Amino acid sequence: MKLCKFGNGSLGLVRGDTVTDVTRALESLGTHRYPLPTYDLMIAGLDGIRKSIEDVAKSAPTYPLNGLKLRSPIANVGKVVAAPVNYQKHFDEAAAEPGTFSREQVRQIHETGLFLKAASSLAGQDDGISIRFPDRRTDHEIELAVIIGKAADRVLASRAMEHVAAYSIGLDITTRGPEERSLRKSSDSYSILGPWIVTPDEIKDPGNLDLELTVNGQARQAANTRDLILTIPELIEFASKFYTLHPGDVLMTGTPEGVGPIKAGDLIRARIQDVGSMEVAVR
Ligand code: MN
Repeated sequence: MKLCKFGNGSLGLVRGDTVTDVTRALESLGTHRYPLPTYDLMIAGLDGIRKSIEDVAKSAPTYPLNGLKLRSPIANVGKVVAAPVNYQKHFDEAAAEPGTFSREQVRQIHETGLFLKAASSLAGQDDGISIRFPDRRTDHEIELAVIIGKAADRVLASRAMEHVAAYSIGLDITTRGPEERSLRKSSDSYSILGPWIVTPDEIKDPGNLDLELTVNGQARQAANTRDLILTIPELIEFASKFYTLHPGDVLMTGTPEGVGPIKAGDLIRARIQDVGSMEVAVR
């Protein structure tokens, strides 16, 4: 099942190049009062509302995908967990460019561990990327994004995939420089998630997916998730050793080689096999 958020918070069921408005299926999530839960209600209840989504879709309005404004498919993300250098060839390119990547930044993920991006950095395909510091180098990073479905606290890699609700394309937009990663990568719109989420039943093997990114039609990144240094289950085990992962938390699994600068006016096209593709404008 492919689910998108479009327009002003509507929930869409994506089928081919159409989107059916299944917002009504969310009514079964119930009403909540302050203080609101700190996880994403739709993702936490996804197993329960799948049937309701299918029922609602039988008689709901359907629109062409082209022309809808796609937003972040996760509305209430608790945290965005991200893997630094998690592809060997990206490690090599970073190590070869000490002016852009400091020695401190180029260490193996086993030592560095993971970092967090602000939840407020999350945006969707049609929100676009707003460059915060036009005078500094800002890079694109395509990453397979994993959406946590069930709370994961000290989960072993062997059981980790039971905690995955869906996959998406992540863009980890990065201001290069000496500050902490979490600061440089947390500007508004610097975590693009889209174009939708795809449930695991539609992904043959998340550990073997082609991913590619172009800027203005020019190839920049092309790789396969089989080259991840820490695999998805290993990343979930690593993260959940330190904190509980909650429904709707997003895990950005790291970017392959080919990162490069973007500027206002550019158009990014990102594609991940079995997930989909999206175009994101840079402003
Ligand atoms: Mn990254």
